[in-house]
Amino acid sequence: MRTRASLISGLLSRPSVAITVARRPRPLSQHGAPPFHVVRNSCLGVTPRHVCYTTLSKESSLSDTKKAALEVGKGVGLVAFYADNNVVSLPDGHRFPMDKYRATRLMLEDDASLVNLLTTHVSPAASTQELCVVHEERYLHNILNGELNEKEQRNLGFPWSPELVNRSRASTGGTIAAMHCVMVGLRRGAANIAGGTHHAFPDHGEGFCVFNDIAVAARVALEAYPESCSVERPILVIDLDVHQGNGTAKIFEADDRVVTFSMHGANNYPWRTKMKSDYDVDLPDDTGDEVYLAVLSDWLQRLFGSHSPSLIFFQAGVDALREDSFGRLAMTRQGLLQRNNMVYTACLTRQLPLVITMGGGYSRPSEASVLAHADVYRAAALRYGAMNRTSPIS
Ligand SMILES: [Zn+2]
Repeated sequence: MRTRASLISGLLSRPSVAITVARRPRPLSQHGAPPFHVVRNSCLGVTPRHVCYTTLSKESSLSDTKKAALEVGKGVGLVAFYADNNVVSLPDGHRFPMDKYRATRLMLEDDASLVNLLTTHVSPAASTQELCVVHEERYLHNILNGELNEKEQRNLGFPWSPELVNRSRASTGGTIAAMHCVMVGLRRGAANIAGGTHHAFPDHGEGFCVFNDIAVAARVALEAYPESCSVERPILVIDLDVHQGNGTAKIFEADDRVVTFSMHGANNYPWRTKMKSDYDVDLPDDTGDEVYLAVLSDWLQRLFGSHSPSLIFFQAGVDALREDSFGRLAMTRQGLLQRNNMVYTACLTRQLPLVITMGGGYSRPSEASVLAHADVYRAAALRYGAMNRTSPIS
């Protein structure tokens, strides 16, 4: 039987087990030679089909998401948007734990230790113009107007309803607003108690993900803050949900301005629709805290050593938890908390703006997931909450 030390060592050194691919060669000047295989993706150079791609002009009237960011950014503590005020009713027995969002928010709002360290705010709705920077016109038309066919609804995992559309717009709007908060320098970190819907593709939704909020917010950032976000200073997506961020990977497969990193269970969904992130780390079943944290620590050093990111999106799914009904890993609540703080420390020590999104969590009953989700935001509030106005990023 392999020891823990040998397993960690194996995960760090055997690309065939833990590290499947890095999509395109990138300079690794600050971190020496790449200790993993780097292959060129055959899709490189393919132009994405964004049939309604719209340039968001900074000169045009302020979007609702930016207005919301400017407004709430004047307050105190970590800004956390939420969308659970849009109530979506699901059929009895539906597998998706829709109530966990509200439960997480209420837990945070009731936490006396977070007074003045965290404030919650209703998310603005993402506009159709904003959704268009990622999603294709046909899909947007069908989802907004309730014209998905049966197969599309099955892949999505939700029955269509107007409330679902409103909530999905708000969930995406919260991530965009959080992005504006950090990019205009009102906060170093901001959060969305929703979002992280990383299975949504430009032309379809799947795996309970209607719109890809991180991808939309990243594209809006590229349009709105070109002086900050560029190939030289890319946006970095750190996706630590137990499921691969396949939609995000696909959306940015030919865009060097966004680096996608996904660390997930090798045997988890998506099984047939896995895409190639810039960096994918496949973890074996039952991976626990020690191995997970050692691998993540190593990868964070590689990522921040190899790139000079301008903005970080953290997909903070907690479905790597041992109690999760979908995930196949075996992390503890304490291990996930250490994971969160590892990401926060990496961003804080480099003074990089961070947007936190919620991602998956499917324990049954949902208490274990809700506690772990709340930990994500509580830890961020304790680290970021006392930091109000920050100097504008250069
Ligand atoms: Zn997940």
